[in-house]
Amino acid sequence: MKTVGYAAHSSEANMVPYHFERRELRSSDVAIEILYSGVCHSDLHTVNGDWGPQPYPLVPGHEIVGVVQSVGADVTQYKVGDQVAVGCMVDSCQECDQCHNHEEQYCREGMTGTYGFPDRISGETTQGGYSKHIVVREEFVLRIPEGMDLSKSAPILCAGITTYSPLRTWGVKEGSRVGVIGLGGLGHMAVKLAVAMGADVTVISRSTKKETEAKALGAKGILASTDEEAMTAAANAFDLIIDTVPTAHDINAYTPLLDVDGSLVIVGQVGPTGELNSMPMIFGRRRVAGSLIGGIAETQEVLDFCAKHNIYPECEMIQMDQINEAFKRLEQGEMAHRFVIDMSSLDVA
Ligand code: NDP
Repeated sequence: MKTVGYAAHSSEANMVPYHFERRELRSSDVAIEILYSGVCHSDLHTVNGDWGPQPYPLVPGHEIVGVVQSVGADVTQYKVGDQVAVGCMVDSCQECDQCHNHEEQYCREGMTGTYGFPDRISGETTQGGYSKHIVVREEFVLRIPEGMDLSKSAPILCAGITTYSPLRTWGVKEGSRVGVIGLGGLGHMAVKLAVAMGADVTVISRSTKKETEAKALGAKGILASTDEEAMTAAANAFDLIIDTVPTAHDINAYTPLLDVDGSLVIVGQVGPTGELNSMPMIFGRRRVAGSLIGGIAETQEVLDFCAKHNIYPECEMIQMDQINEAFKRLEQGEMAHRFVIDMSSLDVA
């Protein structure tokens, strides 16, 4: 199938229109017309080469919603016209203990990411959601709950699941004290989801500039990480902290904010964090952990959770040709919301 998207051809150049082919439908494949695509900081990291060399040309995008256009002969769960979604992975071995445990993101053979990964059968590079169409095996397609507004749902597929999964894993419930470091795409979803679970949520930000947005999302307020006095006063204040900061930073500044047995879960920056001070860990049985997106079943769960609680990401709709400008704004870290591309703005011709 011929399609068009926006691709990066190197870490230096702007993304530009790119015509390419989606694979022929295999019997278990679903072909999707993409209507909206969220813009994640991971797209920016990948295009910039922050995580190593990339197989350019590369079409980013792993927060995808759209409509089923056609299905392979063996597809049973979806039919033409269904409203569906695709997140950060499009395949895994389906046979290991992690896949059987519905944690395909931790597949022992490695998951196949939505873009920039070799397809498990053909070996061709997967291409993501900044495009008009995508072809994905049925097991990695999600259902958008009936009545949900597609134009506001895309960021649930990454920002939503990446924050929902640790909130669930660490048992957040009524009265849990949750801190969210970094109020951006992931951070703002962490606040909404934790508030819906009944938690008492505080945003830990570089300044108090985003206080109005934090409160509108349901947080109690902002703790400024640059305010030493406020940070000292907040010692032992949290059961769980979710860290969404996308750059290298000093985690030791945040661990004393955890109460005894509390955990700080890193979902942001991937890479070295610098030396970890064991003092707060030992004197308080505190933990530092990490978490990667979530499995397919849990991704469906967060979509259903959002539908049930009427939770939508805060989306700023952009046209496809505004993507390079959007990346620049994302790099500044000043937004407390998500960019979403209206794919109808991309002309097939
Ligand atoms: P955003 O840019 O939307 O938000 C990040 C926020 O972090 C900013 O809004 C800002 O919040 C804060 N921040 C930015 N720069 C700094 C800095 N230098 N020091 C301290 N705080 C900073 O990014 P996303 O939410 O889209 O993504 C966040 C990270 O999560 C990325 O690294 C991304 O790759 C990663 N990620 C991880 C996943 C996983 O599975 N673990 C899945 C998806 C993304 P404030 O102004 O409030 O300080």
